[in-house]
Parts: sequence; C-alpha cells; structure tokens
Amino acid sequence: MADDSIKKAAELLRQGATMLSESCPICNSPLFKLKSGDIVCPVHGKVYLVKSDEEEAKIKREFSLDSVEGILIDGILVVAKKIKEDPMDSENIMQMIKYLDALERLKRITSQRS
Ligand SMILES: [Zn+2]
Repeated sequence: MADDSIKKAAELLRQGATMLSESCPICNSPLFKLKSGDIVCPVHGKVYLVKSDEEEAKIKREFSLDSVEGILIDGILVVAKKIKEDPMDSENIMQMIKYLDALERLKRITSQRS
C-alpha cells in the first residue's frame, strides 16, 4: 500500500469508518465502511462489493436504468426547446408526451425494485 493510501486510510478511521476484512478488488487495499454505510477503498473511493452474481446483475440493472433516465431527460430538454421555438408543432408535442410516458414507466420500474 502506498504512503498516500495509508494517509487516506488513517483519515477514514478518524472519521469513524471501520476497516473490513474484504480488500479492494482492484488494488487489494483494505476496504473501509463509512458511517453512511458506503464502502470505500482509500485509493479508489466508493467500491461496490459484489457477493453474488445476482447482486452484480442488480447493480448493473440499476446503472443501466439510471442511464436510460438520463437519456430520456436529455430528450425531453431537446424537444422542449423545439416546442418553445414552434409551439404549434404537434409532432414535437407528441414526442414530448412519449418521452414523459417513458419516464413515468421507468419511475414505476425503479420504485418497484427497492
Ligand atoms: Zn482500490
């Protein structure tokens, strides 16, 4: 472990973090659990400890749903600008409704999973 990460580890302990028996899958430094429940590596920051394939799939799913939400919101912003330029263009309004509908469905899925 490099000097720098020892300093960071000491800092984490001062903040009330506890050292775990697991080590970072990337650099093998000991991992720390923060008071907030987050698990961090002194070198890499926040780490997701994956204990099973099922858990890994769940994390991947959450990441992809987050990125879908970002794409939908970007789309809504683009269409909103078009509607502002031409409020009578019904095609843009239909597009907006589709985006909002998709976002609502996504929200329903994400609220079910927790
Ligand atoms: Zn690490």
